[in-house]
Amino acid sequence: MATPASSSQPPFKKLLIANRGEIAVRVIRGARDIGIATVAVHSDVDANLPHVRLADEAYCIGPAPSAKSYLNTERILEVAKETGVDAIHPGYGFLSENAAFVDACEAAGITFVGPSGDAMRQMGDKIESRRTMKAAGVPIVPGTIDPVADPEEAIKIANGIGYPVAIKASAGGGGRGIRIVESEGEMARAMANAQDEARASFGDDAVFIEKYISPARHIEIQLIADKHGNVVTLGERECSIQRRRQKLIEEAPSTAVSPQLRAQMEEAAANVARAVNYYSAGTVEFLVYGEDEFAFLEMNTRLQVEHPVTEMTRGVDLVGDQLRIAAGEPLTYTADDRPLHGWSMECRIIAEDPFNGYLPSTGKIPYYREPAGPGVRVESMLHAGMEVSIHYDSLLAKLVTWGEDREQCRQRMKRALSEFQILGVSTSIPFHLAMLDDANFIAGDITTDYVESSFQIGDDRPDTSTHAALAAAAFLTKDGESAPAEPRLNGDGSRSRAWGMYARGKRTPLEIGWRRSYL
Ligand code: ADP
Ligand code: ADP
Ligand code: MG
Repeated sequence: MATPASSSQPPFKKLLIANRGEIAVRVIRGARDIGIATVAVHSDVDANLPHVRLADEAYCIGPAPSAKSYLNTERILEVAKETGVDAIHPGYGFLSENAAFVDACEAAGITFVGPSGDAMRQMGDKIESRRTMKAAGVPIVPGTIDPVADPEEAIKIANGIGYPVAIKASAGGGGRGIRIVESEGEMARAMANAQDEARASFGDDAVFIEKYISPARHIEIQLIADKHGNVVTLGERECSIQRRRQKLIEEAPSTAVSPQLRAQMEEAAANVARAVNYYSAGTVEFLVYGEDEFAFLEMNTRLQVEHPVTEMTRGVDLVGDQLRIAAGEPLTYTADDRPLHGWSMECRIIAEDPFNGYLPSTGKIPYYREPAGPGVRVESMLHAGMEVSIHYDSLLAKLVTWGEDREQCRQRMKRALSEFQILGVSTSIPFHLAMLDDANFIAGDITTDYVESSFQIGDDRPDTSTHAALAAAAFLTKDGESAPAEPRLNGDGSRSRAWGMYARGKRTPLEIGWRRSYL
């Protein structure tokens, strides 16, 4: 394809990234690829994170709590003005779906990299978006298109659509603010819980009721649209491997989607986008069930966590496209120019212990090694020596692989997962390794309740003595100095008590006050 003249010029001079972690790193790289300078912002505890180191400039915007830093619009806009940026990319989470922030950027003369505030208002709110979809003729999950506040009324509605039903927060996201109700007796309590969670997480307790569809798959359509009315759909992502309604593994394409179903879902998604004059990257989420039936769940008006699997299989750069579109440039390709090529999977590497009820895990990371090689892409916020704290999202990194077909992609993922070394915190890597070898997963036979209802992780725990040796090696290796294969302690080859504590995974090297003299 011919390269348009416009694409040789950077669409902006300088971009502020109003986010942290792996997505801030991803956006900085996307900006740099097309010649845009970058400004990172960070809370005081995040001063040494990779996004801060990678950006051309970095500024502290407040203390650890998000409300005082990454959600602090005033301070972020202040930095934007002082540094003279012409655009702000919000990443995902935080301010990415905050229409008031879009308005505030516009008022300050800074381009928000995302859709218009109006499109966001119509789509960011689940109730509002259900109304819009219904009017546009897109099938929605059966349920209400108005908020429901009274449990009596909720019971009447549930009797009409049939149990189980889901009570969902209109402002919800990240799997929060959803409660499943199996029978009338559970309604009042479930409603109160959903409202409480919605108020606490999103500052808005409006809830509505939907039929709970099970078994179902979560399949979503990625789209990209410009300010000139061009809408391009880029196929589906399969996101059914979830726990507590949060995605753990995503892939593109889906084993369950035929070319006919893909075409129907893409058409529905494009209608969704046109209905609200959408521009930028966006995702329309659907439940797929029965004989190729599908129903609209929600639209995410932002770049998504799992966008890389689409990039890998379609040869696009969604961040670059978002930036060019924000500057008013037209899309330079159609869907036919970007056909599906091969298969891609993403494993979310999360700081939680799959052998201990998936409890969140925190701590210092004494040793870190990323996988690489053919078909492997890592999006990460980690480096050796950093601290994983309780303050933010537990997503540490995303491991993405590509293969000619699903099997090659899966084998590469297994290889890459086994190369990935993250010490000091428990991660979801053992979960992923087990899932990739699971017969149902291999057969592509997965639904959103699979992990919680049927999947067993087994007891194949990581070998902590190997981990301990690696950590010791990491402590010893300095500028080419070689480390011993086995740590020797106390000068006579015996191991100290502290070492034992570490080797059994009870203490981190820093907790046991590990020093070179111990070895
Ligand atoms: P995706 O659909 O891209 O997988 P998720 O719904 O899992 O996205 O959310 C992506 C990230 O954004 C997560 O870190 C989640 O905690 C956060 N998030 C999603 N929705 C909201 C929201 N409404 N408010 C705050 N954070 C959110
Ligand atoms: P969020 O904004 O938190 O991402 P979603 O509406 O996308 O909320 O739902 C998150 C997940 O919860 C879905 O991927 C699906 O697994 C499950 N879910 C939500 N609504 C329903 C429903 N009506 N029936 C069955 N599963 C549902
Ligand atoms: Mg969702």
